[in-house]
Formats: sequence, structure tokens, C-alpha cells
Amino acid sequence: MKVLVTGGAGYIGSHTVAALLERGEQVVVYDHLETGHREAVPDSALFVEGDIRDVQKLEQTMKDYEVDAVIHFAAYSLVGESMQNPGKYYENNVYGTKCLLEAMVRQQVKRIVFSSTAAVYGEPVQIPIHEDDPIVPTNAYGETKLTMERMMRWYETAHGIHFISLRYFNAAGAHASGEIGEDHQPETHLIPLVLQTALGQRSHISIFGEDYPTEDGTCIRDYIHVSDLADAHILALDALRSQSRSGIYNLGNGQGFSVKQVIETAREVTGRDIPARMEDRRAGDPAVLVASSEKARNELGWKPSRTDLREVLASAWEWHVHHPQGYASPSLIRKGGESS
Ligand code: UDP
Repeated sequence: MKVLVTGGAGYIGSHTVAALLERGEQVVVYDHLETGHREAVPDSALFVEGDIRDVQKLEQTMKDYEVDAVIHFAAYSLVGESMQNPGKYYENNVYGTKCLLEAMVRQQVKRIVFSSTAAVYGEPVQIPIHEDDPIVPTNAYGETKLTMERMMRWYETAHGIHFISLRYFNAAGAHASGEIGEDHQPETHLIPLVLQTALGQRSHISIFGEDYPTEDGTCIRDYIHVSDLADAHILALDALRSQSRSGIYNLGNGQGFSVKQVIETAREVTGRDIPARMEDRRAGDPAVLVASSEKARNELGWKPSRTDLREVLASAWEWHVHHPQGYASPSLIRKGGESS
């Protein structure tokens, strides 16, 4: 039996594929490579280039490879873009998930681990955020992820497909092998932008707002190592296989770091000057987002092991130094030829 990973060529998807292979799972990556990278998928995984809106291709893939579980990453994930063009997000994220679930119904695949987000909560009512806190997304991206979660609930009722939804906070860092890491076009996330500034690829890092009600006035986020996220997907898969029950879990390291703390720590880790400039707030940014991951710890047995911000930044820095142009870097160690 094989695990189908949609969006397995993306940032969090590729790290989860690596973790699945490391523990001996047989993996089929299904990705249309619009934002993902073929080089991020080792040859020891099977690869199907396809769109999640193509039900027939999904069904055929599940049938050909005797898939017993799906891990679903494939989605658009840029908050700003989702506000400009919500239709694009409903079309790919919501309709695409409906196609995936239909293919699962037809092929009798009864387990799905779903890549959700802290963006479903909107403005938090308390810190840390718990899974049963109010859910009021403030952007179209978060709304589509919430709709996808809710759709799964109804497919469970009607068709017995169990799901585990993992609501990530701020994914960061890179795989210990140095072969996979973060490469978004365009890049909008704080940590890669800070490290690109350290490399001299950007003149400065912009700090979006210094007047938030936090100690140093900048936003606080919960940065969780991407390999800890990957581990949580494996535990979720195990729980689905052994217990056949659904659940929703936050994944964060439980500690918050401000934008200024991230930049200062990056200066220490890289030993580079990282010029920073104050700018206006970015629309829609809550002041503080920190997760309670107690539920994932208690019920899935998850324990993030790379919680030191220095360690997270050091692993991301390692990737950036060796792959200054991401997967397009001439120095790429593995060019899709060797397996990890
Ligand atoms: N941020 C910033 N400058 C940047 C990019 C991000 O100050 O160039 C801030 C952003 O306002 C937020 C935090 O860094 O408070 C993390 O942003 P990111 O886009 O990495 O993740 P998000 O929290 O939006 O998922």
C-alpha cells in the first residue's frame, strides 16, 4: 500500500515525503509543479505530474498504485493573492479538494491527512490558541482552508473517510540533509527574506509595523521547524491507520518570537549584517499568533524537537548558503538523480 502525497513537491510536502521515505513508506507524489519543484522529490518516490482538479487522473493514480492513504498539501497559499483573486483559491483549493475526495470515494481510500493553517482562526481571542477557539478567518486563503476542513467532515459522515487536519503556524527551516528547503516564487515569508538579505540578495528587510501591542512593537509568531511538521504528518497517518478517527490539531512550538527577535537572531547565526527598515503594517496581520499544541502532544504523541529559534534559523541558513537561487542553484547537491 502506498501513500499519495498531493503537493509533495512543495516546501512542507517535500519534507514530509522525505520523512515518509526515511521510515520505509512507499510514496506517490502528485503535483502539477506550478509552485512545487521536481528536484525536491527524490527518485525513491514515484512521481505523477497532475492537477488535483483532474478526478480521473487522481482516481487512476490511486488505483494503479494501490493507495491506502492521502496526505493533502496541494493548494495555493498566498494570503495577499487570495484577497486580490479569491476565485483562484476557491477553484484550486476548494474545488480541487472536492475532486480529490470524490476520487477517494470512488477508489475506497478512507484516510486523509490535511494541511491546514492557523489562518483559519483570524484574530485570536486568547494566546496560546486552542483548537476549539472561535474560527473567523480574516482572509480568503484561511476561509478556503476552513471550507476544505468542513467538507472533509461531511465526506466522513457520508462516506466514512476519516481525516486529520493539521493547522500549522509558521513553518521554517530546512531538512538536515541540506538537499531540500524553502523556495517560493515570489518569496513573502520573513525568515527566507531575512536570510536572502544576509546573503546580499536584498538591500534590506522590511519590518511591517513597530506599533503593535507587543514588547518591542513588532508582531510575534510561532516558528515551527518544517521537519517537526513532517513528523506530525507521520503520527497523524499512524493514528488514522490504527484508530480510524478524525481530529483537528494545532502544530506550533508554543513559543513566540517577534520580527525584531528573528532578525537579531539571524544576525547572530549568520554573522552577517542584515539591514532592516521600518515600514507600515501589512494588512491583516494579527499582533500575536502562538499555538497551543497540547492536543497534538497528548493525542498524537507529537513532540517538536527543534524548538530553538537559532537551530531553526541555522538549518534554513545552511540551505540558503548552498542554494542561493533555491532549486535553480548551480550548486544543487542532488539534481533529481539521487534519492535521499
Ligand atoms: N514580516 C515582516 N517583513 C517581511 C515579511 C514578514 O515584518 O518582509 C512579518 C509579518 O508582518 C509577520 C511576520 O513577519 O508579522 C511573519 O510573516 P510571514 O509572512 O513569514 O508569515 P505569516 O505570519 O504571515 O504566516
